[in-house]
Amino acid sequence: MSGLFQASEDEIRSGYTMDVYFERTHRILDAAGLADVPVKAEFTCSSLPNGWKWGVFCGLQEVLNLMEGSGVSMSSIPEGTLFRPRDGRSVRVPLMNLEGPYSGFGEMETAILGMICQPSGIATASARTKMAARWKTVLAFGNRRMHPAISGVIDRSAFIGGCDGVSSRMGGDITGTEPVGTVPHALMIMMGSNDAAFRKFDEVIEPEVSRIMLIDTYSDERAAALEACESIPSLKGIRLDTPGSRRGNFKDLVNEIRWELDINGHQDVGIIVSGGLDEKSVGDLADTCITGFGVGTSISNAPTFDLSMDIIEKQGRPVSKRGKFSGRKYPHRCPHCFSMGVSLSPDEEVRCSCGSVMEMLEKPVLKDGVKVQKDRTPVEIRESVISQLKQISEIESRS
Ligand SMILES: [Zn+2]
Repeated sequence: MSGLFQASEDEIRSGYTMDVYFERTHRILDAAGLADVPVKAEFTCSSLPNGWKWGVFCGLQEVLNLMEGSGVSMSSIPEGTLFRPRDGRSVRVPLMNLEGPYSGFGEMETAILGMICQPSGIATASARTKMAARWKTVLAFGNRRMHPAISGVIDRSAFIGGCDGVSSRMGGDITGTEPVGTVPHALMIMMGSNDAAFRKFDEVIEPEVSRIMLIDTYSDERAAALEACESIPSLKGIRLDTPGSRRGNFKDLVNEIRWELDINGHQDVGIIVSGGLDEKSVGDLADTCITGFGVGTSISNAPTFDLSMDIIEKQGRPVSKRGKFSGRKYPHRCPHCFSMGVSLSPDEEVRCSCGSVMEMLEKPVLKDGVKVQKDRTPVEIRESVISQLKQISEIESRS
């Protein structure tokens, strides 16, 4: 097979990428006259990867774009909601509920799950890294380790989870932000020296683009940092991507560079670090003079969530496979401790063990295939994630 091994939008919509057993199921149900039996299905998970206690729900917008026009109805917790997978009774909390003839969405199960499982993993890793950075700048640089067909998905999910900027033009367009980046080592190697590369960058690249120069290609970071300040008067920052073999005491190195920048009058020049960072190493460096972190693979290659779709009602009757809880359920969350609750009716009062009345989280999002609320922008969703992260960080520090 020649060409690129990626599915087109038409191939995803037509079911070409679905697990083939769903297509066979559809044909069998059709033959039995049961394809259009009305059912309700919910999306839940039993636990989160890495022992994470909470996750950031991400990917709803793309599911809505996929299911618009399908004729099914759907309710969901808002995209960007911090959730825990189970309530106090260990009941799985439904994140999305679908309703319609089984044939209206059965064959889309593979696509819908993929659109929320992987993005939620990425958004959660991004959120955890942003918290570990103590709210300092975190830039998502991890596209290069994943297939390019999903760069937009990765960037959007990383941004929604809390990253401040994304690196691809496509990700920038999807998130409505200007993509960010510095320079690759290749530029210095091709130009022959730091100074030649820094000056040419400043000459060629439009002034709106922040001048952040990579300073560890050839020489000592401290000397190259000062060189960058001289080459570019409007320098915004320097980036250290120091290889592991040269790291020594990285905190001391960064502190020394900060000192030398300050003493030479460059207090406004920030220090960005990158290179193999993850939640733990970002946390270890958060209380230094570092201004921001470029984080790659640990976010883009975040573990995917193990969400599943299960039929929980058929022709108005509660049903489910063994191991799952039957019946249409509604998700609630305590506004004070973020514990989750589940009810059998939307207006039932669910009380948290802390004494507070929980909030019902679910909102209708599709009615017979028509979107019932205005699309939210990634910027809006990210703001709500950041405010919930501040809350969970307080909750976790109390417990
Ligand atoms: Zn509570």
